[in-house]
Amino acid sequence: MNKIINNNKLLKELEEDIQISTSKIDEILAKAKELRGISHNEVLTLLKIEDKELLNCLYETAKWIKQEIYGKRLVLFAPLYISNLCKNECLYCAFRRANKKLIRKALSQEEIREEVEILLSQGHKRVLLVAGEAYTDEGLNYIFNSIESVYRVKTDKGNIRRLNVNIAPLSVEEFKELNKYSIGTYQLFQETYHEETYKKLHIGGPKTDYLYRLETMDRALKAGLKDVGIGVLFGLYDWRYEILAILSHINHLEENFGLGPHTISVPRLEPAFGSEISYKPPFPVCDEDFKKIIAVLRIAVPYTGIILSTRENEQMRRDAFTLGISQISAGSRTNPGGYKHPDSETPEGMGSQFSLGDIRPLQDVIKDIVVHGYIPSFCTACYRLGRVGKDFMDLAKPGLIKLHCLPNAMTTFAEYLEDFADEELKKNGFNLIEKMIEKDVAKDETKNKIRKMIQEVKSGKRDMYI
Ligand code: SAM
Ligand code: SF4
Repeated sequence: MNKIINNNKLLKELEEDIQISTSKIDEILAKAKELRGISHNEVLTLLKIEDKELLNCLYETAKWIKQEIYGKRLVLFAPLYISNLCKNECLYCAFRRANKKLIRKALSQEEIREEVEILLSQGHKRVLLVAGEAYTDEGLNYIFNSIESVYRVKTDKGNIRRLNVNIAPLSVEEFKELNKYSIGTYQLFQETYHEETYKKLHIGGPKTDYLYRLETMDRALKAGLKDVGIGVLFGLYDWRYEILAILSHINHLEENFGLGPHTISVPRLEPAFGSEISYKPPFPVCDEDFKKIIAVLRIAVPYTGIILSTRENEQMRRDAFTLGISQISAGSRTNPGGYKHPDSETPEGMGSQFSLGDIRPLQDVIKDIVVHGYIPSFCTACYRLGRVGKDFMDLAKPGLIKLHCLPNAMTTFAEYLEDFADEELKKNGFNLIEKMIEKDVAKDETKNKIRKMIQEVKSGKRDMYI
């Protein structure tokens, strides 16, 4: 039985005629600024805003919250696709098993090493390991071996310091096995919480089981994982329904495990080779609604990270940073081996999962972020210091995280500037760091501490965090 999503209730609520008034919205947005989230009914009211002025108030509040909690900081990562073998039939995805024209590939451990070396040479420190649901003859050991291979790579530019995974649902016993490896967040997207739509779009393979997927995070947390990330593939069903459903899912996790998700991902459906639906999304989400999604989520769950991928184009990514995104991927490829062979650009040859909106290399993305006054962060301190799960949330909620995150963002960005940046970026980057120390760090003692750490990075010290 579905104890997480009350489908009839959500559908009925969305049909209700809610009166929107400026005073009502003002009241909700004022409450949002207390940074404790807002109620289900208040979210429902925000979802119904159409008026341009009220919409601007919504955006301004989301921007204020983003700045208050996260400051001008953006965490960067790259996906690492290790395999596009898959036994499922998700109608929107190029990896679906009936897509016979797609060139299939599961990287060998040696090929994984090569991919990681390339990511390290670009400056990445955090990767998200991604795979279709079929893992060569080794079964799940293929994933475990791959995790070990990623961490094993050490170059003169360092090593991967945090690896998150986005792989198919596991049983409790399998999650216990996965938990023995040093993973950061386990991510899984429900795709759509609307069961009827889910069944129409997932027509073959283990992923047809809606409930098994929905209860994945329960099993992960029962098995002892600390950080889980959820998400919806926007474009499959009514985005308003999906937002209410995400919040129901979060409530369920908080009530049963005392802990919400570490992150929410907001992928939008993109064209995928061999998938008709991907070119004509059943419920297309326009840019304005997409911004609304990000702003409402930021307001509703202020302490949960929100992740945006390179599915989105440059301009949307810029808009999204200010509205509440806290993590982005950059310089991504969605085909196994895509970093070593970026130019095999026929759709079949690429073996990619979907097409990308932002194909700029990492350094170009960073330059753009810096121009807009954001500090790119490669920080991995929390997870390495055991600030995970409930401990992370306890620390995050009173805003203390900012005390750690901002200095750590600066030291890891300084490392990037020293090791990878061209002269122009180096100059602009260090100027931005100094400007931010002056403006955004309150105590002189902390300012001095950060300046000292930056100096040490300039003198060759690496991997500094507090
Ligand atoms: N195979 C596993 C699964 O489905 O959960 C894990 C990784 S899957 C490669 C990662 C995610 O890609 C899926 O959860 C889905 O949301 C997203 N995806 C699939 N097709 C897409 C498309 N055409 N556009 C954008 N995202 C897509
Ligand atoms: Fe396979 Fe995941 Fe693509 Fe579905 S979304 S076809 S499970 S890779």
